[in-house]
Formats: sequence, C-alpha cells, structure tokens
Amino acid sequence: MTISPEKNPFPIAFTGGRILTMDPKQSHADVLVIQGGRIVDIGDKCVLKSYPDVEIIDLCGRILLPAFIDAHNHLSFACFVPQWVNLWGLTSKDAIQDAVEMHVQNHPGRDWIVGFPWIDAYCGGVELTRKDLDGFGLDRPVLIMHETWHKFVASSQALKMASITASTPDPGSGKIIRDSDGEPTGVLLESAGAPLLQLALETNRRRFADLIEARAEELHAFGVTAIHDPGVTPAAEAAYRLLYEEGRLPVSVLMMPHGDSLLDNRIENRLNGPSTGLGDERLRVGPIKLFADGGVPGTVAFSGKIRGRMYTDGMPRDDFSDELIKAIKRRSQVCVHSLGNVTTDAVLESFETAIEQSPDGHNILPRVDHVFLLSLAQITRLASMGGCSAVQPCFLNRAERLKRMAFEGYQWFAFNDLVKGGVVVAGSSDDPNGIMDGRDTIKCCVMGATMSDDAGNVIFPDQVMPFEQWLWIYTAGSAIAGGQENERGMLRKGLVADLVILEGELDPKKPPFVAETWANGKKVYVKAKLTGANQ
Ligand SMILES: [Zn+2]
Repeated sequence: MTISPEKNPFPIAFTGGRILTMDPKQSHADVLVIQGGRIVDIGDKCVLKSYPDVEIIDLCGRILLPAFIDAHNHLSFACFVPQWVNLWGLTSKDAIQDAVEMHVQNHPGRDWIVGFPWIDAYCGGVELTRKDLDGFGLDRPVLIMHETWHKFVASSQALKMASITASTPDPGSGKIIRDSDGEPTGVLLESAGAPLLQLALETNRRRFADLIEARAEELHAFGVTAIHDPGVTPAAEAAYRLLYEEGRLPVSVLMMPHGDSLLDNRIENRLNGPSTGLGDERLRVGPIKLFADGGVPGTVAFSGKIRGRMYTDGMPRDDFSDELIKAIKRRSQVCVHSLGNVTTDAVLESFETAIEQSPDGHNILPRVDHVFLLSLAQITRLASMGGCSAVQPCFLNRAERLKRMAFEGYQWFAFNDLVKGGVVVAGSSDDPNGIMDGRDTIKCCVMGATMSDDAGNVIFPDQVMPFEQWLWIYTAGSAIAGGQENERGMLRKGLVADLVILEGELDPKKPPFVAETWANGKKVYVKAKLTGANQ
C-alpha cells in the first residue's frame, strides 16, 4: 500500500461511538473531524455545524482512539525474518535440521542460511555448536539466531567468512565461546555475533527497502501506524530514505541511529550524522541507540540478594557511557537498552553526568528501554530527570520462572511502579522477538492489564494496570517517549489523523479487536467480516 501525499480536501467526521482522546486536557468528545491528513476539530455535537458538507462516519457504538505507536520495533531487522528458516517451536537438533533442509530445497543457491528463533536449553530447547551446523553438509554459511538475537551459533564456513579463529580476541562487549583447545565452538554471545549478522543481512538498498515496506504494511492490521526503530544501521537508514523519497513508507518511522551492525556500540560516524529531531512526521531521526547489557542469561547484568544470598550474573558493557555523554554534548538524545538492575544504575549515572555537561538549552529526554528489574530508587532517579522507558508486556511469556528469582528490593516488570513513580511509559513489541508476536498490540495490552502470560498464568499481579491505561501507554505514552507529542498519540486539533477503531469492550477478559486503521486521514486497514457458514 502506498500512502499518497495528496491532501484530501473533504472533511470527514467520526461520531456515534466512544472517542478516547488520550488527551488529559480534553478527555471527552462526541465528534472528531479530520481533513487533509490532520485532525481539524474535536468536541461536542455542535462542532458539526461548522462543517455543512462533512462526510459523516457513524462509529455505531465502536471506540475511536489514536492509532498505536510501537515504541520499540526493530523493523529494519525484523523485515528479514520472512527470508529466514522458521525455527518457531523447534526444540530438537533433528527438527532444526529438517527445517533447514526444507529451506535449502526451496531456496537453492549459495546465500547465507539464517535460522530464527533458536530456543536454547535454558528455555527448553537445545544447545548447538558449529559441528552440528557443519553436519548439515551444506556448502553455504549457516547462522542460527537465538530467539532474543543476543546469542548465535555459526557454522565453520560462516566463522571463516567473518575471520573468527582461535586467535580472535573477544570483543569487549561479547564473547566467543571456545572449546578446551581454544577453538571457537561456533557459539557467539552479544556483539561477538555482530560481524556475522552484518554479513548475513548484506543486501542492496532497493531490496532492503522492499523488505521493510512489506513488513511495515503488516502493522496496519494491528492498529499500528508509527514505530520507533531502536537500532538503525547506516544501510537501514538509506533504505528508509529511499522509501520516504518514493512515498512508499507505510508507517511513520522514528529512526534511532546505531552502529554498522546491531549490538555494536561503535557509533562515532553516527554521532556526526543528523541529530535527533531532524526530518518530518513520516521519517524522523530519533535518539542515538546504545546497548548497556545483553539479552540472554549470562549477559543480562543482575545483582542482588535472593532469600538472603548474594547472586550476581551478566556482562555489563563498559562501552556506552562515553558515547552517551558525547551524543548529548552534540545535542542529540539517547536511548539505552538496559535489562538488568546493574546496568540500569550505570545508565542512570551516565545520564546524570551528561545532564550536568549538556549544552545550554538542550532539553534531555533520558530513555532507558526494557528495564526488566528495577528498584523504587531507580524509578525515582529516572523520573526526576523527566525520563521515559519503552516496555514490552509480551515478555511476560517467559517470565514464569522469574517468580522464583525474587531479588530483595527489586521488582521484575515494574510497569505499575514506573507509572506511579512518574516515568513516562511507552508500549512496544521488540519485534522480532522470538517469544511471541508482540506486534499484536491489543494482546499486549491484555497481558499488561492482567500481568499474565499467553497461557493465562498470572505473573506479578501487583503490577496490574487498567486496560485503558495500557491503551494510553501505546498511544500518548509512546508519542512522548519519541518526542512526538505535538504530532501524534492523542486526538487533538492539529495532530496527524492516524486513528484506530476498536470493536468490542475495553475488557481484558473479552478484549476488543482492531476493526479499522487510518493513517494520514486515509483508511489503510479494514478487518474482513466473517460471512455465511463461518459466522
Ligand atoms: Zn530492542
């Protein structure tokens, strides 16, 4: 689908349903009027008198609200998923080998074989080494990517192409797992896998753009019309710009500049690029993206007491703080990936230092995404800097085991504590996480509103928030975290006419569904009605 830049000259009014403005200044409205891709009026029924020729859309009791903003969606990485071997749910070597062989039959050639999502032994699946992948007997490089994409296993040929040998040192922020002879086993943690990822994803600008466009179009069915891409490499930026220039960008994108490959904090070139805010409401430069810790057990940086015993794990990175301070001195904003409580402390400290050294008139919006384990003191520190965080209720799907890891003084998935503590919370998917399709925003709002996993197990019930609060988080909350509150996320005069119509009740036990999505004042998605025997 192409969003045409031409303006619709005729006003359209929505009425006859419940209008959720997400705007604290005007929480009630009977009528919303859009024209030329923008909201031109909102208020009670009298508003209609000013628009004698308006086309009226009867909501028929349905719910109208701003379209969803997925504040942490790796679109420029997720767009490759359809090209990869689908390992969803496969937990044995044989099943993985079968899937790879099937893929090779359908995709002959010499290209890289990438498999995703790999479920390792920790999550009930299987550990793999290069010997397993070599055993597939393919004359092609093979890379299998963990469901969190913070852990990889590469075949011998793939390691060779990336020049990873026994004498390659570990990068500061990653680890090459070695056998007793010092030879790489093929397993690579964090940024040690970045060079392979870069090779495997290499493509030309036009093909990259086509893949992004296809993946972005899928978002409309979830009611999403805008994303923040938290890790935009120079190649991804070039592809986004091509789509923008050709008027083919299906969603609004806030690009967070990142290094040449995902998980790599070497961003010197990006710091010299355009700074945060440049662009327009279709494509804008967002905060610089940095990683403070990892994403798998062993790299996520936790520390604290569990039932009186000290417990410490993880690989906190030491390569983000200087970059963070440099970026802020150059008047950019920064978003940091931090899962564990140890790195969150370090990130907060870096932001505090950066604020002291920041140039005059530069209003800093500290952003720390994920924050899986938090203390109230950390929440207060982030809130006191006016900070924000994009969270992912979809990760409750692997959280059952965390109930047994109760760190004293810390809370897992402290969604409600964050809101109560004054942090702006944004909603997101972390697509393509291999745990569930987090792009399903309504499902994520249900998970957050019940603090349940997909199977209905309640995880941390004291963090429950109302369903409507989650809708605010995925609209206004995400807009504020992106510095876009004067552009989208609320139904307010002058903002973009990106809308969602929900059918059903705002009840997490019986959730509504996305009936229609509008972007730039145009209908871009309508849920197909079931007819006949299916009804
Ligand atoms: Zn992420």
